[in-house]
Amino acid sequence: MKLVSIVAAAAVISLLLLTTIASASPEKTDKFGCHKCMKDCEKYGLVKNEYHCHGSVSVQSTNIQIAPRIYGDKTYRRVERVIDGDTLSVYLGLGGKKEKVRLLGIDAPETSPKEKAECYSAQATQQLGKLASNKFILLEKDKLQTDDKDKYGRLLRYVTVIGMNVSVNEELVNGGFAKAYPSLTTKVEYYKKLEAKAKAAGLGMWGECFKEKKNETLTRLFPLKGERIDRYGEHQG
Ligand SMILES: [Zn+2]
Repeated sequence: MKLVSIVAAAAVISLLLLTTIASASPEKTDKFGCHKCMKDCEKYGLVKNEYHCHGSVSVQSTNIQIAPRIYGDKTYRRVERVIDGDTLSVYLGLGGKKEKVRLLGIDAPETSPKEKAECYSAQATQQLGKLASNKFILLEKDKLQTDDKDKYGRLLRYVTVIGMNVSVNEELVNGGFAKAYPSLTTKVEYYKKLEAKAKAAGLGMWGECFKEKKNETLTRLFPLKGERIDRYGEHQG
């Protein structure tokens, strides 16, 4: 009896050891700390065989730059380019596939059509560039969010840059580069507060685009460049 239980115990122990060793040894990575995803890919937001990197090795290689990076259990995507003050493009999936991301819960002045570019749209685009260009970013959904994408097919996400403690969405509202978007999200009230603060301090567009007529903010949030503010003002009252 004793021998049987010893053998059984040994079997259990070796089985446990084997499982531990198997799960503790990750699939091999190359010299850049990267490899193709073989299993549990969905958990990390990757597709099977998607090339991705772990850790913080920085290598100037196009292939490495576009590969997603995993820190902990979160997958960061590389920014391909900044489109305007609240939209950017990221590398997603295999073979350098790209996808547009619309920053959730905020709204920056429109850059297009060019001849009707809204006041502070260029500065907003520039600011998003400063924050996110070429960076690895974390894309997060909102708990209350019902739509994954907007009507233009852009992913609706909160964006955080690796190494930054605040979100890009918040930074843009904080600096007066964007306003809170009236959306059904957990952060809508918080973003409204940030917007009110920036407005009160006259930051960004709040100082630049509404200098003369403070009441404009109530009727028209993004006046057009040039004389449109005044012309609009003339039609009031
Ligand atoms: Zn991996």
